[in-house]
Amino acid sequence: MLIAGAGMAGLCAGARARELGIHPLLIEKGDRPGGSMLLSSCVIWRHLTFEDFRRECPGGDERLQRTVFDGFDEALEWLVSLGPEVVWEETPNPLTTGKRFDPRSLTGALVRAAGEVRLEQRLPPEAQAPLVLATGGFPVRYAREHKLLVRSNPWSEGEGFDFAHARGAEIAGDLQEFYGRAMPAPPAEIEEEDYVRLSQLWDGQARFLNEQGEEFFAGPPAWHESDLAQAIARQPGGTAWFVVSADHRDDPRVVALREAGGTVEAAGAELRLHVAAAVTHTQGGIRVDERARVEGVEGLFAAGVDVGGISTGGYSSGLAQALVLGRIAAEEAAR
Ligand SMILES: Cc1cc2nc3c(=O)[nH]c(=O)nc-3n(C[C@H](O)[C@H](O)[C@H](O)COP(=O)(O)OP(=O)(O)OC[C@H]3O[C@@H](n4cnc5c(N)ncnc54)[C@H](O)[C@@H]3O)c2cc1C
Repeated sequence: MLIAGAGMAGLCAGARARELGIHPLLIEKGDRPGGSMLLSSCVIWRHLTFEDFRRECPGGDERLQRTVFDGFDEALEWLVSLGPEVVWEETPNPLTTGKRFDPRSLTGALVRAAGEVRLEQRLPPEAQAPLVLATGGFPVRYAREHKLLVRSNPWSEGEGFDFAHARGAEIAGDLQEFYGRAMPAPPAEIEEEDYVRLSQLWDGQARFLNEQGEEFFAGPPAWHESDLAQAIARQPGGTAWFVVSADHRDDPRVVALREAGGTVEAAGAELRLHVAAAVTHTQGGIRVDERARVEGVEGLFAAGVDVGGISTGGYSSGLAQALVLGRIAAEEAAR
């Protein structure tokens, strides 16, 4: 069994395969394991009820949503059993349930369970079945093509998607949809370890103007604010101004933005913060069935955000999708 990508989905697949007595070959394009998970807040969650999931992600494939939702609790228990550091036993968000992990500790625990990871090796074009695609979608390519900021690992260019597509796989979800955040606009410089700290989440306390000074987003944004990030991406330059009360002068979000070299303008009793849309992961991708099988391509499986069409129209935990589908992909590929 070959697993391409040693982020959340690939590592979960590798760990599950080893449990089943298989020694998979786990290859990783980057120079470290962990993918975007290592950079993340690492809150792994599901909606409280399936109805909430449907309401928040109305365009998603109901079968796959069911798979992730129903498989979540057992998969989370399994993850905890691998011994990573749990930072929160429960999420503070009343709409969700799950846990927060320390991402370094989680990466370490998963690598130990998955066995060897071969770094700096990318999915070869001649790869044979059984093959699990876990390459993290195409956020880097998407950001480059749309002139947006990257807020993901730097290697996910869509090679898994292209591999599957060339073999006849179908597309699920909307390839234009992404999950992202507003981040300080250039000339701010953002290191990847600051992706979480520099996120500009204002929870309805801001007005949103584009470069022409027009209000382009009535708000309030959804709690995850990915709708706002996508609206910014559609504005000229993919940038915007968040207008907040000058009382927020010493707010950690304003201080962090300024320290990163971003632009804060004073305008009377208000501050204007210059932000840009940043892409964390794409939401459209490869179509799979409930057993993570790429429909119509024998011996090919996909997991994590290589899979499209789960959170279409909203947002659900990318880490949960990677955890549940990574395990299932390994089980199916091991048959
Ligand atoms: C700042 C930040 C905060 C986040 N917070 C959360 C959160 O709190 N909760 C949540 O649910 N989600 C969160 N996410 C999103 C979450 O990290 C992703 O949804 C999740 O990591 C997806 O898992 P994945 O395995 O599909 O992709 P990844 O974890 O990104 O792994 C993909 C791996 O594939 C590798 N790869 C790419 N191309 C190839 C190739 N051709 N060959 C071999 N390997 C390849 C990449 O290098 C990478 O290691 C956050 C992300 C970021 C960046």
